[in-house]
Amino acid sequence: MKKIAIYGKGGIGKSTTVSNVSAAMAAMGLKVLQIGCDPKADSTRNLTGGKNIPTVLDTLREQSDATLEELVVESSTGVLCVEAGGPVPGVGCAGRGIITAFEKLEELDAYTIYRPDVVLYDVLGDVVCGGFAMPIRGGYADEVCIVTSGEMMSLYAAANISHAVKSFGKRGYASLRGLILNAKNFAGEQELVDKAAAEIGAPVLYRLPRDPAVQQAEAQGKTVVEAFPDSEMAGHYRALAKHLLEGAAKV
Ligand code: ADP
Ligand code: SF4
Ligand code: MG
Repeated sequence: MKKIAIYGKGGIGKSTTVSNVSAAMAAMGLKVLQIGCDPKADSTRNLTGGKNIPTVLDTLREQSDATLEELVVESSTGVLCVEAGGPVPGVGCAGRGIITAFEKLEELDAYTIYRPDVVLYDVLGDVVCGGFAMPIRGGYADEVCIVTSGEMMSLYAAANISHAVKSFGKRGYASLRGLILNAKNFAGEQELVDKAAAEIGAPVLYRLPRDPAVQQAEAQGKTVVEAFPDSEMAGHYRALAKHLLEGAAKV
């Protein structure tokens, strides 16, 4: 079982990237479990027809003895979808939602029942507090990839996340695999990301272009891989998926 956490600043394109990678991996015949770890709870939206599925936190709030089938939704493309969910705004801790979701999935034996080949965590990386660092330090993810553009705020978040991974990494937790550039398409962007990657000491694993096919697919509630399988962008997501499956973790 390969377990990869994808971090990045809010709005940078984590969920778009992760759900397309999930769909691409599922099309290769792999069983994929995608766990959304963002209080926005829309990680798997484009896998489930543009609708948000109930979150683990919300479901457990109403029904503490919820079954696995009530927490995990299988998409039409065969991806197992989970949304950790978040607290009531202003009350409670978003990181706690992630911990609760992980513990519940284990308690209900999700990994032995579904036997996923790949687990992808889609994690908000603006805050790298204890809660949001759970996929890195709890023995959940083996590898961490960071989605970033060349914009300052997104590179700033990338530097923070890499710092957290490295400090936990010393204790034998997940290791940093590299950056995934999700381009905003401004002049000099590639060079800025290359420079940041060199400073962080991690490679740029893949460069995704900005492509209107993403919005067109989103309007249909689908991933690009599903809506436009022959498009250039779908090819990029499939190539990224292959790359993530093949490469070894950076030590
Ligand atoms: P995050 O999960 O990091 O908060 P999203 O995946 O929801 O971000 O992406 C935010 C928006 O950016 C989406 O609505 C999507 O339409 C757009 N987007 C993401 N990646 C691309 C891309 N490569 N090309 C065009 N639009 C993109
Ligand atoms: Fe919870 Fe982290 Fe937010 Fe603090 S910063 S409330 S620990 S999610
Ligand atoms: Mg998201």
